[in-house]
Amino acid sequence: MRFSDSVRSIPHVGKKYQKKLKKLQIKTVKDLLYHFPHRYEDFSDVVKTNEIKGEGEFCTKGKIAKLSTIRTKKKKMYLTEARIEDEEGEIRAIWFNQPYIEKNLDEGDHIFLAGKTSFRGRKLYFSNPSYEKVSPNPTHTGRLVPVYPETEGISSKWLRHIVQRALQKIQVEEFLPQEIIDDNNLLPLSKALNQIHFPDSKPELNKAQERFSFEELFKLSLIVLSRKMSLLRKKSVSIPIKEEKIKSFVQSLPFELTQDQKKAAWRVLKDLNSERPMNRLLEGDVGSGKTVVAVIAALNVSFSNLQSAFMAPTEILAQQHFQEVSKLLKDYDIKIGLLTGKDEKLFHKKEKEIKRSKFLKKLKEGEIDIVIGTHTLIADKVEFNEVGFVILDEQHRFGVEQRAKLCKQENYVPHLLSMTATPIPRSLALTIYGDLDLTIIKEMPKGRKKIITKLVNPKERKETYNFIRNEAKKGHQTFVICPRIEAGEDDEDKKGDWNNVKTVKEEYNKLDNEIFPDLKVGIIHGQRKTKKKEKTMNKFKKGDLDILVSTSMIEVGIDVPNATIMVVEGAERFGLSQLHQFRGRVGRSEHQSYCFLLPTSKNVKGKERLKALVESEDGFELAERDLELRGPGDLTGFKQWGAPDLKMASLKDQEQVQKARESAKELIQKDPDLNSYPDLKEEIEKYDKKIHLE
Ligand code: ADP
Ligand code: MG
Repeated sequence: MRFSDSVRSIPHVGKKYQKKLKKLQIKTVKDLLYHFPHRYEDFSDVVKTNEIKGEGEFCTKGKIAKLSTIRTKKKKMYLTEARIEDEEGEIRAIWFNQPYIEKNLDEGDHIFLAGKTSFRGRKLYFSNPSYEKVSPNPTHTGRLVPVYPETEGISSKWLRHIVQRALQKIQVEEFLPQEIIDDNNLLPLSKALNQIHFPDSKPELNKAQERFSFEELFKLSLIVLSRKMSLLRKKSVSIPIKEEKIKSFVQSLPFELTQDQKKAAWRVLKDLNSERPMNRLLEGDVGSGKTVVAVIAALNVSFSNLQSAFMAPTEILAQQHFQEVSKLLKDYDIKIGLLTGKDEKLFHKKEKEIKRSKFLKKLKEGEIDIVIGTHTLIADKVEFNEVGFVILDEQHRFGVEQRAKLCKQENYVPHLLSMTATPIPRSLALTIYGDLDLTIIKEMPKGRKKIITKLVNPKERKETYNFIRNEAKKGHQTFVICPRIEAGEDDEDKKGDWNNVKTVKEEYNKLDNEIFPDLKVGIIHGQRKTKKKEKTMNKFKKGDLDILVSTSMIEVGIDVPNATIMVVEGAERFGLSQLHQFRGRVGRSEHQSYCFLLPTSKNVKGKERLKALVESEDGFELAERDLELRGPGDLTGFKQWGAPDLKMASLKDQEQVQKARESAKELIQKDPDLNSYPDLKEEIEKYDKKIHLE
């Protein structure tokens, strides 16, 4: 059996189970073996029956002296009871509603029992324990027992069976080079797989976890480094810095740049000045003023008669950027274009609509200096004259090949500046975006009022609504964010207290009809058509709506200066950095703004977490807290940024992050295309694809 074989090749896995496994993203034998336990029950200490003295978790072994099943009269329940003896004494076990146990076990069998003990009357019982016949190598008892992430119809017990079968038959194909294994003192793959599922001891388990954590970080580092290498083989045009002209532009701005903005702009101008392609990530909280930094750079590029392309994730944001850039550059002889799925506009002294065909012709002939748009910009029909500079706002990665297409000369790529309001913790930035140079804008423009953040008790809901009404009277607007679209949306989520979580549709109806019949309320969510969403969003932007009820989908960076209140229902459902981003959608004017967090559950831990938001307005600090508390998968924008779902790697373990990076660096310097390591190369290619698809 090989890694790439379908799970169907494992005995006892038929069509039915294949389908269920798919829900856990398990399709191949390798997927199964990389479905790691998320915890272990420690039943490695097998005690004598007389050592079990009180309530607790134990594992023991003995002979079944008596086994019987009765049906209770009152509740019509099956009760299966066993008495187990060893040399030292006896203990009883009781199972509820599992009459089939009598078929699996017989009196006289020697078995392990593992689980919780509790008193029924004065007697101590194992209640619903795991059991299995005694063998030198038990699966469910008498050891560290793996517990897996489960799904309906796929239990940990079943997974243990299947994984064990697979482990017996698999021909493990190691893909890490031997020297990497040796240098880093790692377990070989075959042993690591055995130990992560069925560890002999805790130290062995640690070694196995270490191997898989290293493996992930190493693969990631290789991908990042090879991206960097392939970029280094390309060239960019060196764009001279027109210092005087830039200074006079900066002086003409209606505000003074912050120190951080000045530093960032200078850094970018220097990058543009080099032949080495710029690959810079500009991070700064919402409202920190990244756009003007990009505009300074684009202006400088236009002095060399090269074009700049500015890509935004949505049409609304593209329009917003177009307005802002046009305003900033209105005194210059520079042509600015907007190109989205539906718009084509030009700005030169004043705004005007223009036919698409004409727009594209002008673009191709280099008559448009700065073009702003959505993904449409990289559609096949769109041709540029010569792009020197690409700006990405809150975007996915942009491959080297995509970049090269925008340049006419062979082997040339445009400079690239990527901007994000997602605060990415340092360790993460190093690992996942290690191919990007990083500039951070920490300082906020002067005169911004602090947003007042408050954790609202259920009792204070009415007051909150009154507050919203008062603000509306002043002409101010409110966002209300709910975690779900409608009730019963997702079976998985119905578990737990999801039933109490506010839904967008219910909340909209309630606010519109009952609470605020006198105000104008709008709704947007992912199930609505894009056109409808944009229409509603635009109405809100123009001030035609007082309240907008939405899922978490409203865009980062959307600018509605009149919005002063952000209400988040079911706030504990969101990550801290996501909440921080919601908060960033208000406070964009001189008016005092507010963020009200309304948790649903009584979950104390969740509330504790929310307090961090009340206390801190530092996006980086909050992102670090998120990383610690919830892991990287829950960081906002993390997935969108092309980051993989890390299973094992702890990004907090700086030492290991460092080791993996060093090893990857050495290897790739020795063999840039990994041609001497075909297995590794294949593994990396697959991993890279997976990251891109996630
Ligand atoms: P973001 O970093 O979120 O993209 P923007 O670039 O949209 O932020 O800037 C937010 C607002 O702040 C814009 O209206 C912009 O004109 C304004 N702004 C930018 N820099 C400054 C500054 N140094 N002082 C005052 N206002 C500024
Ligand atoms: Mg922005």
